[in-house]
Amino acid sequence: MEFNARRYDNNEPVRIRIEGERIAAVTPLQDDGSFAALPIVAPAFYDLQINGHGGIWFGQSDLTPEKVLSVLKPHFSFGVTRMFPTLITNSNENLLHGFEQIRKACEQEKWADQLVAGCHLEGPYLSGEDGPRGAHPKEHIRPANWDEFQGWQEASGGRIRLVTIAPETEGAIEFIRRAVEAGITISLGHTAAEPDDIKRAVDAGATMSTHLGNGAHGTIRRHPNYIWEQLANDGLTAGLITDGHHLPASVVKCMVRVKGTENCIITCDASGLAGCPPGLYHEPDLDVEVLEDGRVVVAGQRQYLAGSGASTLDCVRWASQIPEIGLKSACDMAGNQVAHHFSDEEITLEVGKRADLICLARGETDVTIRLISTIAQGEICYGEIIH
Ligand SMILES: [Zn+2]
Repeated sequence: MEFNARRYDNNEPVRIRIEGERIAAVTPLQDDGSFAALPIVAPAFYDLQINGHGGIWFGQSDLTPEKVLSVLKPHFSFGVTRMFPTLITNSNENLLHGFEQIRKACEQEKWADQLVAGCHLEGPYLSGEDGPRGAHPKEHIRPANWDEFQGWQEASGGRIRLVTIAPETEGAIEFIRRAVEAGITISLGHTAAEPDDIKRAVDAGATMSTHLGNGAHGTIRRHPNYIWEQLANDGLTAGLITDGHHLPASVVKCMVRVKGTENCIITCDASGLAGCPPGLYHEPDLDVEVLEDGRVVVAGQRQYLAGSGASTLDCVRWASQIPEIGLKSACDMAGNQVAHHFSDEEITLEVGKRADLICLARGETDVTIRLISTIAQGEICYGEIIH
């Protein structure tokens, strides 16, 4: 497979040749001005937090491998070639079931196994306080329990690579130590922690913040508080939901300035209702509303969001319009920096790298991008290649 495109990182026109799963050649083209309309080529996205799609949640009690596959498949059309299916706070039984169905789906389909780079367990060892708890069902919030977690890890076939935990939860620090020792990445989130709890968690090996600035009280003490503390801690990479609803652009700008774009990761935190039309949905633990503007909220109010209705591509598009970020950094924040944090293969536009690429078309302005095609391990999984 061969095609011409402009590099996302320096806008230079190149001819890319793919052989098998890898990039075989990246040849610069003489820029005579005729290449302005070429698509942009960038590494494909890697999203750590996908809860479901099209009305299916990974945590639902009647999940089947077929349903898992139906959630996974549309993500190629959002430029995603690696992702972590995410299960949130739930009963032991439902978590066991969910992870088992994900494992079976991966065992059934090679493409699914390649797409599922790991799983994310967000909860159930979180703050029970309203606000930080977000949309996580209160009755299933509980103290950290390593033995209980082992059951889920086994059900997933060892796929859980990321756990979001509130460090002030009983047993959390010991849990963090054991998880890090087992090679699992720990992210802090849905927390009402005091600064000391956060420091202790980082000392124990936590390296990330889950959707920093969300999963928080509506009103908090001006300082100290858990948002400043995580912002100021250089040991924590910040996950940000840049869908335009979870965080105002001014907050994203400040967070990115403090952390540096290289220490921020974009996630869409897609709800199981992503891709569903506006309306009221009765979910097992919670009534959720999809609003006309695309927000997904806990029904009956407008302040607390229940994940997003946006895709990773939507989040990259929104973030790229913030001058401190731009398209190149937005792509890296949603792709290579995630791979880097998990010591997975970083995809750059170089010979020998895994051919997980996307082609984007610019819209009427520089930042209204549109996905033309997604290539995963050398195969076209969405759209078409313009030769
Ligand atoms: Zn969350």
